[in-house]
Amino acid sequence: MARVHSIESCGLFDGPGVRMVVFLQGCQMRCRYCHNPDTWELPGGTVMQESDLVARARRFAPYIRRRGGVTVGGGEPLLQRHFLARYFRDLQAEGFHTALDTNGYAPDDALTRQVLASTNLVILDLKALPEDYPSVTGLSGVRTFGFLDLLTALDIPTWIRHVVVPGLTGSAATAAGLAQRLAGRRNIERVELLPYHRMGLAKYAQMGLQDPLPGTEPPDAAYLAAAAEPFRAAGLPLQP
Ligand code: SF4
Repeated sequence: MARVHSIESCGLFDGPGVRMVVFLQGCQMRCRYCHNPDTWELPGGTVMQESDLVARARRFAPYIRRRGGVTVGGGEPLLQRHFLARYFRDLQAEGFHTALDTNGYAPDDALTRQVLASTNLVILDLKALPEDYPSVTGLSGVRTFGFLDLLTALDIPTWIRHVVVPGLTGSAATAAGLAQRLAGRRNIERVELLPYHRMGLAKYAQMGLQDPLPGTEPPDAAYLAAAAEPFRAAGLPLQP
């Protein structure tokens, strides 16, 4: 059983190829730039059986089995690890590629390793340098960077994402610190810098929440280029 926020049948951005993307409900972080505050609360969402979600993937199999797959994101999917372990195991048994889009806030225990044993790709959102995590996300960064180490130790193919928010993340110092922590990890297949946008603000208004970053605008080309430079200099596979 899973608590599902929504399902996208034809995703093109969350992993290779065409993908079914399942967004799970619930997140323990409160990133100040989050554009999906409606995924935060657990319980919430729609209760769905794992067998129904496997059947849903089968329905899209002509489009997603050969070159795409199934991505589970959120919210934070590792909050529902029992479901994920079974779902990814069963999807892989039917020939689907599995991707996990996560903030990495999970303990290194048997259940996390069980999930990862059936995960073809992890898309890990690194929000900030460890010491800046509390001010950006409300939580410590220790677990997320421990999760990054676990992915490297297990040699799990990983894409890194970092949202660039002027005045909060993506500064030259943050980018240099992240690049230094990522350099030399052979499991990192891709690094993506995503520009902050304000499209989620309507949800904050609907939910009666205040804009957590009033006056913050999306980064301009120069800010993005400066953020990219340390990753390039470190030889990391920056995309695009
Ligand atoms: S981890 Fe993702 S869903 Fe959770 S608060 Fe941060 S941006 Fe939002």
